[in-house]
Amino acid sequence: MTQTRGNLFILSAPSGAGKSSLINALLTKYNDMKVSVSHTTRSPRPGEANGVHYHFVNVDEFKSLIEKNDFFEWAQVFDNYYGTSKQAIEDQLAAGIDVFLDIDWQGARQVRDLVADVETIFILPPSKVELEARLNNRGQDSQEIIAGRMAKAQSETSHYNEYDYVVVNDDFATALKEIETIVLAKRLSLQSQAIRHQDLLVDLLR
Ligand code: GDP
Ligand code: ADP
Ligand code: 5GP
Repeated sequence: MTQTRGNLFILSAPSGAGKSSLINALLTKYNDMKVSVSHTTRSPRPGEANGVHYHFVNVDEFKSLIEKNDFFEWAQVFDNYYGTSKQAIEDQLAAGIDVFLDIDWQGARQVRDLVADVETIFILPPSKVELEARLNNRGQDSQEIIAGRMAKAQSETSHYNEYDYVVVNDDFATALKEIETIVLAKRLSLQSQAIRHQDLLVDLLR
């Protein structure tokens, strides 16, 4: 088998729909998949570690990274800056690892312009009531922040039709299986398989 480049996937959703939980569950199952660790200017939530969940930086540091052209994409979301550094993805893709970006619709637009074969997935919550319940149950944001995120949920969701796939995260195991199916289908695409199995194909077609 020949080593192929990793695939790039984007998951977007209104805050609280379950992106992080779904990506984490997938990563525990596959050791050849990674999530890109973004930079952000927001404060860490309880339990969030620098370099693991995000690289937490201040606004000046973020702006100097923009000036150095270190970002693959960046956007302002909920009054904070968020960005994917080039370093967060390039080495992994080159090593054949599939990389997940948990980024908003503005970031997804930028990445689509840069990477033609990125696969994009939009996660929907089963209802507004359940979305708010999840943000409350997560227990990591203040009431004010939760209200702000609920207010932004509609505008984020209005971009669902820019994505390749839509998954409803009602039953967690079902949503996970559906995302896994998308990832595995991409791995089985002609483009990937023709490279991965080039020796076999040469032999069979000789
Ligand atoms: P969550 O939505 O509850 O997971 O809250 P976060 O604070 O982790 O993320 C806030 C928003 O920023 C979400 O819409 C993310 O998809 C988006 N986001 C996170 N990282 C990035 C990034 O590197 N680039 C872009 N463009 N958006 C990001
Ligand atoms: P996001 O990263 O999209 O903001 P999270 O992954 O943090 O969302 O999920 C928000 C909350 O909802 C978490 O407390 C998580 O455990 C919970 N959650 C995620 N998916 C489901 C589901 N299918 N059913 C019930 N709770 C869920
Ligand atoms: P949170 O602050 O709850 O971790 O994230 C809020 C939103 O920011 C989520 O919708 C998340 O997808 C988005 N986000 C996180 N990191 C990035 C990033 O690097 N780039 C972009 N564009 N959005 C991000």
